[in-house]
Amino acid sequence: MTKKSCIFCGSEYGSIEFADEHVFPDAIGGLLVLKDKVCKPCNDKLGHSVDAHLVNHGLVSFLRLHYGLKGKSGKVPNPFERGVLKDDPKQQIRYEFTDDGKPKRTYLVPQVSAIKDGEALKVSFSIDESDRGSIPSIMRKIANRHNVHISDDHIKEVLNIPSQESNPTIKSSMKLDFEKYRKAIIKIGYELGCYWLGDEYYHDPVATSIREVIFSNAPLYEDAQRLLLSGKIGFIDGEPDFPFLSDNKACHIAFCHPQSDFISCYVRVFKLFEGHVLLSRCPAKYPTFEGAFIEINVENKSMRELPFLEEVYCASRNHNRADR
Ligand SMILES: [Zn+2]
Repeated sequence: MTKKSCIFCGSEYGSIEFADEHVFPDAIGGLLVLKDKVCKPCNDKLGHSVDAHLVNHGLVSFLRLHYGLKGKSGKVPNPFERGVLKDDPKQQIRYEFTDDGKPKRTYLVPQVSAIKDGEALKVSFSIDESDRGSIPSIMRKIANRHNVHISDDHIKEVLNIPSQESNPTIKSSMKLDFEKYRKAIIKIGYELGCYWLGDEYYHDPVATSIREVIFSNAPLYEDAQRLLLSGKIGFIDGEPDFPFLSDNKACHIAFCHPQSDFISCYVRVFKLFEGHVLLSRCPAKYPTFEGAFIEINVENKSMRELPFLEEVYCASRNHNRADR
């Protein structure tokens, strides 16, 4: 690989447009950016086919809302977008937030039903108080559709119905992905490998396999088995691995520490997911690499990087101090 080429497809810098690549996705507050390392087509592909499964994950969307982490649309996600009233499951209701993720209001989604009863047309509808002004147009539309006459007095009567104050219980459900977000964790590990191990990492046989896995459409376990990749990625259930390394829920952390016969990368996204990604079986290829640690705090938008052993030393010293 020449000095500057895409760490995914190998395209040479200058032959094609390059883009800033966020190692931890931008939408989860990832501050570490690889410049001139990923071409635009690979960056786009990673964004929608890999990172999206992590940043739009149901559980991650709660944390993005909590920390006000906006996506490409400029808005924080709303995990409560589609709810129903507990006592009336047909009635949809939304809990709305501002673009910055501050609570705004609950909103009753308009619901109209019309039943012909002989000559009469029985209409019932429920709408949000904020939509009161649209009652006349709704009523006229229904009347036109069913070919019945409606008087202005009748409309006025309906307009004067007082609104009901309520404090509803909202039920909402979400689909949780247990599989696809894992590739985004592998991608983070791979990019940290390129970042920390240097340009020669591109040629590492494990790096070649990881690139294949990241862009493959096959199930992850099949690819991992075929390419003899090992690792472990999952939800953090209780204590994370290496709990002494960072106790802050608002942080993403990662580290790499070379062993005698392999190098792997530990990645933790919030205190939600963690993974161990095998990066290399030839640590001897990277004789100057002594290990590295990174912590990104999404709340105060700060990042710190230092040699791994230094971080372990600081963390254990703080840990002992806290115990005393
Ligand atoms: Zn590329």
